Amino acid sequence: MQEGVVLKKGKEVIFENRHQWIFSGAVYAFPKEFRSGAIYPVYSSNSELLGHAYFNKSQSLCGRILSFGVKDPMEELYSNIEKALELRRSLLDLTQTNAYRLINGEGDGLPGLIVDQYDQYLVIQSGTLGMDHLLPKITAYLSSKKLWKGIFEKSTGSSRKEEKLLEKIGVLWGEDQESFVIQEHGLFFEVNWRKGQKTGFFLDQREMRQLVKSFSKDKKVLNCFSYSGGFSMYALAGQAEFVHSVDISEQAIGWCERNCELSHFSKDRYTHQACDAFEFLNQRKLDYDLIILDPPAFAKKKQDIPKASRGYREINSQVLKKMPPKSLLLTSSCSYYMEESLFQTIIFQAAKAAKRQVQILSKHLMGIDHPINIYHPEINYLKSYLLYVD
Ligand code: SAH
Repeated sequence: MQEGVVLKKGKEVIFENRHQWIFSGAVYAFPKEFRSGAIYPVYSSNSELLGHAYFNKSQSLCGRILSFGVKDPMEELYSNIEKALELRRSLLDLTQTNAYRLINGEGDGLPGLIVDQYDQYLVIQSGTLGMDHLLPKITAYLSSKKLWKGIFEKSTGSSRKEEKLLEKIGVLWGEDQESFVIQEHGLFFEVNWRKGQKTGFFLDQREMRQLVKSFSKDKKVLNCFSYSGGFSMYALAGQAEFVHSVDISEQAIGWCERNCELSHFSKDRYTHQACDAFEFLNQRKLDYDLIILDPPAFAKKKQDIPKASRGYREINSQVLKKMPPKSLLLTSSCSYYMEESLFQTIIFQAAKAAKRQVQILSKHLMGIDHPINIYHPEINYLKSYLLYVD
């Protein structure tokens, strides 16, 4: 029997439930010659092989499962990559959309790994030490397919901080290219993977953007926390009367401008403003037919939930107070730790504080290229509500 990690009695339930995380409290013993970041077999208290996981002993979330039962972990990893690729090919109209999430971490059975495709390039994000160790093999596997011109690493983000890992940004394979012009539902966007936020673009809101396009005709639209203008372009394409985009980042507002130019929208139909959205919402009249509120995550850790709840309540009630009758609000939370039911309660409290009649028209999660593993729902971070404000 290969030396591995032994779980405490009863903790084999983690594998039975096909959850992908092992917390240190479930571990009875680590191997004598333990190396953080390496893959080990995991055994139950009566020496049954449960599967394989990579481990980082310094973390309370110390193990992430790569394979269940007797399957070889590397074979399972490659098989999960294949399944992820096939799923995207079967779901998306690739003649209209060439930017999408190819691998969504635990959602695709590949913990700690995000891969976004931007036209002919891949941007990879590793969130853990174990995944850092696997990246050379994953890069070799993906590059051997000869489907892409370059594979880049943009390993930034909060999970790395928790694992005390430094950011890693660079070319893993192929030719360097700082920015790409991508197509999404037939619209064009410039994406700069190095300077942009996350891997360069917020692919998770694609379906919501399409929904916004479907009812934007003749509407005055405010896109708050616009980033590079994803929602703005769709509203303009849906014949909005005009779209006002607000983001604190000058660079993001520059990309908004560039993206409007790429789609040749008439300049009198849009304006952009680099400023603090909280101040903007506080000071302005908000005479819009549709407001989009897609702020950055207010809760970065579990302990932030009370403060984040207050933040979401305040911003939503402030907007609801000022919106004209018969207007629409699309409001989102991208906080991992904010459960959907809590977010809905916060919107209810905001409506009550604003003394407005509010109806939920639809609720949305991430786009279909961001699957959520039913056994591991924690990765469901994005919740969006479309509200009608009477
Ligand atoms: N809706 C966008 C993604 C928004 S991400 C899309 O579909 O692409 C959140 C954005 O909020 C980021 O662009 C960030 O620059 C911006 N932001 C963060 N703090 C802000 C603030 N105080 N005021 C305005 N924008 C802010």
